Amino acid sequence: MVGVKLSTPLSDLKGVGDVVSRGLGRLGLHTVQDLLEFFPRRWDDYSEVSTISQIRPGLVTVRGRVEHVAHRRSFRNRKLSVTEAIIADSTGTIRAVWFNQPFIKAQLKEGETYALRGKFEFKSNFLSLQNPVIEPIKADQPPGTHGHIIPTYKENNAITSKLIAKLVAQVLVCVDELEDGMPPEVLRQEGLMSYGQSIRELHQPTSAAMLQAARDRLAFEELFMLMVTSLAIKQDIQTEPARAIEFDVTKLRPALDSLKFSLTGAQKKTAWVILQDMGRTKPMNRLLEGDVGSGKTIVALLAAYMANTQGYQVALMVPTEILARQHVVSASKLLEPLGVSVGLLVGSLKPSEKQTVKASIASHAIQLVIGTHALLEESVVFANLGLVIIDEQHRFGVSQRRLLKAQSEVMPHVLTMTATPIPRSLALVVYGELDVSIIDELPPGRQAIETKLVAADGRQAMEAHIDELIDQGQQVFVVCPLIDQSDTLGLKSVQAEFTRLSEGVFAHRRLEVLHGKLKAAEKEHIMAEFVAGTIDILIATTVIEVGVDIPNASIMVIESAERFGLAALHQLRGRVGRGAHKSYCYLMSESDNPMTLKRLRAMERTNDGFRLSQIDLEMRGPGEIYGARQHGVLDLRMANVMDTKLVARVRSSAEAFLSSGNMLKYPHILKRLNKLKAITTLD
Ligand code: ADP
Ligand code: MG
Repeated sequence: MVGVKLSTPLSDLKGVGDVVSRGLGRLGLHTVQDLLEFFPRRWDDYSEVSTISQIRPGLVTVRGRVEHVAHRRSFRNRKLSVTEAIIADSTGTIRAVWFNQPFIKAQLKEGETYALRGKFEFKSNFLSLQNPVIEPIKADQPPGTHGHIIPTYKENNAITSKLIAKLVAQVLVCVDELEDGMPPEVLRQEGLMSYGQSIRELHQPTSAAMLQAARDRLAFEELFMLMVTSLAIKQDIQTEPARAIEFDVTKLRPALDSLKFSLTGAQKKTAWVILQDMGRTKPMNRLLEGDVGSGKTIVALLAAYMANTQGYQVALMVPTEILARQHVVSASKLLEPLGVSVGLLVGSLKPSEKQTVKASIASHAIQLVIGTHALLEESVVFANLGLVIIDEQHRFGVSQRRLLKAQSEVMPHVLTMTATPIPRSLALVVYGELDVSIIDELPPGRQAIETKLVAADGRQAMEAHIDELIDQGQQVFVVCPLIDQSDTLGLKSVQAEFTRLSEGVFAHRRLEVLHGKLKAAEKEHIMAEFVAGTIDILIATTVIEVGVDIPNASIMVIESAERFGLAALHQLRGRVGRGAHKSYCYLMSESDNPMTLKRLRAMERTNDGFRLSQIDLEMRGPGEIYGARQHGVLDLRMANVMDTKLVARVRSSAEAFLSSGNMLKYPHILKRLNKLKAITTLD
């Protein structure tokens, strides 16, 4: 087409009327550039063709003439429609079958030649090609040439994949106008094709190898941009001066001696690395990863104690008030006898209480302050803040770091402890600006939690089992996705479960509810009672999701379990199995969705949080899991973050590029990076 540019509206193209134009709009496609950057969903390779006499069961492609095609109702199931065709090549004939795709008959003309790709299997007494995709081919077209790897695009009721392919063919002349996001020297060093060429290959692959190279190149770019961004953030942080907190083992001794257990090897190792970091004049920015119950808190408290004894204040920030209060109890138990004063700062304190705490922070009367986001308020001013610990959160953004600096003059050291353990290669991508330490070992003597997926018919037996365990003095969490009953969603609510259980099977037990709508004082009171053992069953929302540590609780029931991701389920399960009792986690679900059941079954099979996050990644992709989809951070269309080799290769390439100082030569890359920086540091 003459005069077509990247910015040309698609409605200017041949064959695009109102209906098509609106259909394209619904796919997010408005301009030629949108269309070029609309990646196919999958590719079917028709280039490796089997002759009919040679085919074996499995995924196959055949090329043959349609001898006969017919459409009928299934004999066994009248609701099912069946289209059958007999396909022949020079070596033999084969049956192809399509279920509930009546339109196939119109697409296949007897006597014409097609490539068919599908599963060749034994079904209903026949070996046949099941629901193959079809591609018409000219009889004289040799196999393995252009056009034999066919892309399939996302469709809607106005737009077919074939139409998109046709439109793309009209505008492919524009690919070289697309701006290449990658620095040319990196493309050269890494042997990668240009952006334009990779886009051309995606739409019209010249061979399987070239298509793969195109996909690799795009994957490389996605990861490269993310990593250059996070490494640039890392550099920025490193240029800030920090106060060195000297690592002095003799001063740490009293804290180590008062522990009631000995540290695991992994705890010692990570604590040592953290204490080393803090001893430098550059701010520490480290992520401590460890599975639920691996004992991250004590590692953090040791770092806090080190800072305290060297004359610095420490702030420990957590996502919920419940967790803040609980940390105050455990930190006080360990550190107050050693002379550390511990304070609490949360939003629900009375204004006068807040004033007092803030004054004590400003005067250094409090050495360790534990709280929620309230710690970041401007009015909180530290006398001498040396270390900030963020517990059970993913990421601590640049803006928050800036606030901290304002509060404490010099950038403090920052230790983040994640709520969700993730594999190291993903951590490099997602938390690229952080140094990562992993606690890969649980304290000794932990019993595996027994997890069971329970449908409606198993509820009674489960409740009987719970009753027995309560008789033995154990305690129970019941988690529901909602606070109040909703008739439309069909989900369990805290209030309705409370009524059902307290008026029914558990009328003789002590039950309480806990959720975000309660006043802080009520929540605190209920948690205290649960800790004291005067409540048998606590029916709660996910307010108890992270961190809560009640060793006597040994049963976790999660209602409407299909509503939760694996990471959340694993966190919730981590609330039990913390004491000496054998612990149970019951996942209640009436879902019959196979994907959902597969996800829940994974919980039955493993107690390993790293393994679960890997399964979650494989099933749902990284964006959904890390809540980053809306930010676009992990909207990786090509890159597989589990590809350890690629991640490592991109990482070193990004490091080399950044240290070359060439970035300044490329304003468009700088612009993209600044955009990504703003995104990746959003909390
Ligand atoms: P998480 O890593 O999930 O934050 P916690 O720090 O809450 O885990 O620790 C879980 C429990 O294990 C706590 O009750 C803690 O006292 C205990 N714990 C931690 N380290 C050890 C250890 N080395 N040996 C025995 N128990 C430990
Ligand atoms: Mg914790």
